[in-house]
Amino acid sequence: MSLNRDQMLDEMGLSPQWVMREQPSVARGAKKAPASVVAAEPLPVEVLKEAPRMVSSVILRAEQIADYGWDQLRQSITECRACGLCAERKQVVSGVGDENARWMFIGEGPGAEEDARGEPFVGPAGKLLDSMLAAIDLNRSEDVYITNAVKCRPPGNRTPEATEMSACAPYLKRQIALIQPKLIVLLGRAAVHAVLGEEGSLASMRGKTLAYRAGERTIPVLVTYHPAYLLRTLPDKAKAWEDLCRARALINSSQG
Ligand code: SF4
Repeated sequence: MSLNRDQMLDEMGLSPQWVMREQPSVARGAKKAPASVVAAEPLPVEVLKEAPRMVSSVILRAEQIADYGWDQLRQSITECRACGLCAERKQVVSGVGDENARWMFIGEGPGAEEDARGEPFVGPAGKLLDSMLAAIDLNRSEDVYITNAVKCRPPGNRTPEATEMSACAPYLKRQIALIQPKLIVLLGRAAVHAVLGEEGSLASMRGKTLAYRAGERTIPVLVTYHPAYLLRTLPDKAKAWEDLCRARALINSSQG
């Protein structure tokens, strides 16, 4: 099914079309607070002695996960206690969709509803994501795989910490390797940080075609806003729409 622009905007919940608001300007002459400098404490000797063993166990775990098939991967994620997020989760949220998908959407981490249901992007943000997918003739069970940078809910829906994303990274890496998508769409800044290691602003990365290296392959990556952010910031839905159009054009061109 092919929709015209107005129908697609309607699918995304973008009708009537929005009027872009002016961004508040920064007061002239306002000075930035100086960054404070904190002297680093030397690490205790016991920690320094333990460090090589910890590093090798992290490497070993990543190597093991890199060999898993889907069943082992799911099992390992379900039983994982590799970071503190396991303490308060109701259940892990591995991912949903087509394991041979061309499109992979990656968000930040499960929220309360996802934690309760065990599926990523449910609730209002999930509905918006479904509308966004429908606008480009996609749905979450066909040719699309959806997951998050971390598989367990950060308490209070906070942004996952770098250590948590790093502990969960082997799972995401293996999911990407198994799926081998034609395109990865990163939803929000934390996902960008987790997948590309970039900490810049989302605005500085939107509109570019970035690259994820998976062995010999390079997978194109686009960045857009997280649906939960779009629910709070309606004017930016228009920008998300532009990003989706770019994503669809990129996938269509890769079909050769
Ligand atoms: S967030 Fe990832 S690394 Fe942390 S406990 Fe859950 S599955 Fe394991």
